[in-house]
Amino acid sequence: MKLIMLGAPGAGKGTQAKKIAAKYNIPHISTGDIFRANIKNGTELGKKAQSYMDQGLLVPDELVCDLVVDRIQQEDCRNGYVLDGFPRTIPQAESLTAAMEKLGTKIDYAINVEVPDENILKRMGGRRACLACGATYHVEFNAPKTADICDTCGAGLVLREDDKPETVQKRLDVYHAQTQPLIDYYTKAGVLAEVDGTQDMEDVFKAITDLLGE
Ligand code: ADP
Ligand code: AMP
Repeated sequence: MKLIMLGAPGAGKGTQAKKIAAKYNIPHISTGDIFRANIKNGTELGKKAQSYMDQGLLVPDELVCDLVVDRIQQEDCRNGYVLDGFPRTIPQAESLTAAMEKLGTKIDYAINVEVPDENILKRMGGRRACLACGATYHVEFNAPKTADICDTCGAGLVLREDDKPETVQKRLDVYHAQTQPLIDYYTKAGVLAEVDGTQDMEDVFKAITDLLGE
């Protein structure tokens, strides 16, 4: 099962992608997590990506595409994967389609998690991230057992630099300009599935599993 999660920043792509990965036993590939891990480890890629991320801008396509195309050819992706945060531009989608065609395979579904901008602004201010293991929480909708401590690994939780209100609005503008056109792209490819992302997390997940099957 080869899936793409589409939606605005904060729509709940990562939340749902983690649940999909666990249920269907496929890897969750988040380009945002990959960049954050590279920043934490001080790699060249991390250094290049950080200034774009902190400003709420997209990292240039050439830093993202090869990385994902390599990742989906690894052994653990044989039975599928769920891409979260990629593609984010039409050239990224075209590069993925071309690479998959070469591999003789295709995307099964691009799942668009639909949430209006006003809900997003509320969600992002409450998001807390574990930079050690990638877990995500929300102070109101999905609180950790102990405030500001990761349930999974015990590390401290942070408000991501790019989740501060001034950057969130920029990211939403970038989403509408550069990423939203992918809805049309995957509609034309015949693989778009729409899910109402304003529902509770469990109801969003049920809509997705109704689509994908047991
Ligand atoms: P994305 O990966 O699309 O940027 P996340 O999955 O990190 O978004 O979700 C953004 C924030 O909203 C997180 O704090 C998450 O806990 C919370 N969240 C996710 N889904 C829902 C939902 N259905 N209802 C309320 N809050 C949600
Ligand atoms: P995310 O964790 O998916 O919200 O991504 C955080 C940030 O990483 C984004 O705002 C971008 O700056 C960068 N990023 C992640 N994925 C991509 C991508 N596919 N293309 C360009 N930039 C990306």
